[in-house]
Order: sequence, then C-alpha cells, then structure tokens
Amino acid sequence: MASERDHRRMLRDAYKAERKRDEWSLLGIDREQLDDLLDHVEEQLAVTGCDHTLRHSRAWAGSRSVAWSELEAGLPAAGGGCDCEVLANVDPDEKV
Ligand SMILES: [Zn+2]
Repeated sequence: MASERDHRRMLRDAYKAERKRDEWSLLGIDREQLDDLLDHVEEQLAVTGCDHTLRHSRAWAGSRSVAWSELEAGLPAAGGGCDCEVLANVDPDEKV
C-alpha cells in the first residue's frame, strides 16, 4: 500500500507534468518541432548573427507551416525574446 508520502509525491509529479504540458501548449509545437526549430535557428545565427528579432524563428515557422502567431507569443514567454535567446533559453532538455 502506498504511504502518505508516496501519495504526495505522486500528486506533485502529476502537477509538474501538467505544468510542462502547459509550457508546450504555449509554444504550439511538439518536442520534435522544437528540436528542428533550434537546429534551424542555430544554423542561421552562425551565418548571419542575431538582429534581436525572431526573424529566423519566423522563417522556420513559415517553412514548416507552423502557426507563427502562437510561437510569436510563446517563445518570449519561454525566455526567447529574439533568435539568440531562443537558442540560449528555450532548451527542450530542461522541459523533460
Ligand atoms: Zn538576440
């Protein structure tokens, strides 16, 4: 039988999983798409650098038929106010 402590831990894990889902739904893309986005942004930044906008992220969304309106709001909320911040702060491994 699960102890009271195990039960509390279970509730806490469920809560954390819930929060994680919220972050993802905020972005409107799944884990695979985020990996793809970060790859694209990294490649483009290596070529042109960051102009302190989300233009590379936006170009990615356009080329992948991803709704830019959701990403445009979701990325800054996840710490990515421009392309280099997306690369620095929107880390999929921190959300697992
Ligand atoms: Zn930047």
